[in-house]
Amino acid sequence: MMRNIVAGNWKSNKSINEARNWMGEMGEAMDNLPKNVRIMVAVPAPYLAALANEKHPRIHIASQQVSANGHGAFTGEFTADMLVSCGVDYALVGHSERRSDFGETEALVSAKLKQCIESGLGVVLCCGEHLNERDSERQEEVIESQLESALHGMTADDMKNVIVAYEPIWAIGTGRTATADQAAEMHTFIRRWISEKFDRYTAENTSVLYGGSCKPSNAKELFASKDVDGGLIGGASLNSDDFQSLICSFT
Ligand code: PEP
Repeated sequence: MMRNIVAGNWKSNKSINEARNWMGEMGEAMDNLPKNVRIMVAVPAPYLAALANEKHPRIHIASQQVSANGHGAFTGEFTADMLVSCGVDYALVGHSERRSDFGETEALVSAKLKQCIESGLGVVLCCGEHLNERDSERQEEVIESQLESALHGMTADDMKNVIVAYEPIWAIGTGRTATADQAAEMHTFIRRWISEKFDRYTAENTSVLYGGSCKPSNAKELFASKDVDGGLIGGASLNSDDFQSLICSFT
């Protein structure tokens, strides 16, 4: 079981040509990248099927979005099983930008996760506290409640398809990173929570990624903590050289 993962999140960036160039650069560099890291990238929805077809076999493709419903009259939505049928491996669920800018509630996050699990689509479940919650030392309470709500009804077996990303909202796209100690503390908390909710084996086999202004200059220190299994990377995933440095940051 490979817990180490470096996952990019391009958000709403890159044309299809730029996306293909990035993939090409990654393919050329692949032989020099460590083998003990799962490589993933969440690309804009219009490129999913094409890139899933063309990608290097070591790159896992993720969707940044997925419907909370199955097939039916839901204009504009795309379902978890459609993503699977296009060769997509994962979907991000519960990203803070979706929660705060697009009104995604805990109930919606939980419904999306359920759809993914039922369709066999991997999930990167994002959780994280706001600055005011951190300032009032409520971060553990907030994360616990987000995890409890999103994973309600899931079994240890379902967890084989779930990756957790701890992303303090005050660190996303702000240039402000959690210290390695702050990240380590929260990751240990999350792994303990998974162990108590499911079992120790599940906790030891679930990847817990850090997200929030992670970049080549700070990744080594963040990834060195035993419970930090890699990163979900926004800004620094856009440039393939930076992304490769991140993949090389495991010691
Ligand atoms: C993210 O979008 O999940 C993220 C962590 O963004 P950034 O690395 O740009 O802070």
